[in-house]
Amino acid sequence: MATNNGNQANAKIAVVTGGSRGIGRDAVLRLASRGVDSIFTYNANRAEADKVCALAAEAGARAIALQLDVGNAGTFGDFAARLKEALAQLGAQRFDYLVNNAGTSSAATLAAGTEAELDAQFAVHFKGPFLLTQTLLPLINDGGRIVNISSGLARFAFPGRAIYGPMKAAVEALTRYMALELGPRRIAVNVVAPGAIATDFSGGMVRDNPQVNQAIAEHTALGRAGLPGDVGPVIAGLLSDEFGWVNAQRIEVAGGMHI
Ligand code: NDP
Repeated sequence: MATNNGNQANAKIAVVTGGSRGIGRDAVLRLASRGVDSIFTYNANRAEADKVCALAAEAGARAIALQLDVGNAGTFGDFAARLKEALAQLGAQRFDYLVNNAGTSSAATLAAGTEAELDAQFAVHFKGPFLLTQTLLPLINDGGRIVNISSGLARFAFPGRAIYGPMKAAVEALTRYMALELGPRRIAVNVVAPGAIATDFSGGMVRDNPQVNQAIAEHTALGRAGLPGDVGPVIAGLLSDEFGWVNAQRIEVAGGMHI
């Protein structure tokens, strides 16, 4: 477990899966700049997680990194126990905001996608957020907020996304059911659907392949591919009191991609 020595007592606390890189990392840092502490997860890359803790401290917030494979639901009970310890380090018993962000890409087509890939994508993108949220419900403060991360690929079809896109569509439906069930606890649940974002995702394709980057720019009204900094502030904003009455909504953050 990595941590830092920030000093904001009684700040709101976010739990962000996949906060060590890309969109999740940007969300943790945007939250930090708003004075929100984070307990975020990484799967394998501890070094990047440590960097995020240091950057959050520079922004004046506390951040603790915990290892979690969101595709392995059998570990969620153990994760909850470690999360309670991390919350105790922050002087809290519960947290306020959950961001189900962690994910992995898949280039499967209908013709060639395997049962193993289908199961793996289901585990990471649907079963994981469902069962992790269920496991953590007792630890979320009433009046808290949840943001799930979908994709533009849940709205438009793109070659090679026959498993990934529909999994994200399922997360969008799940968001509405979460909002329905958690309304009595005043917990709002929304889903952010990023367009193509220049991160390590898909082998860094959007960021590192000039042809892909250019093709995306040409299909985006605002004329470029997205950056993590286009999405993190939207996640942080949706978790804030200013957006308190926004509930059960899908917000595409794509610069107008494939409109
Ligand atoms: P990155 O590949 O940049 O970062 C992924 C993050 O998730 C890392 O922190 C990684 O941890 C973590 N992670 C990966 N697999 C697991 C796992 N099995 N269990 C727990 N954590 C895991 O991805 P992005 O930031 O681009 O993507 C974040 C989310 O946004 C995903 O849900 C993705 O589907 C979605 N999205 C991305 C788009 C894009 O174009 N980039 C577009 C639309 C949606 P570690 O560093 O340890 O590997």
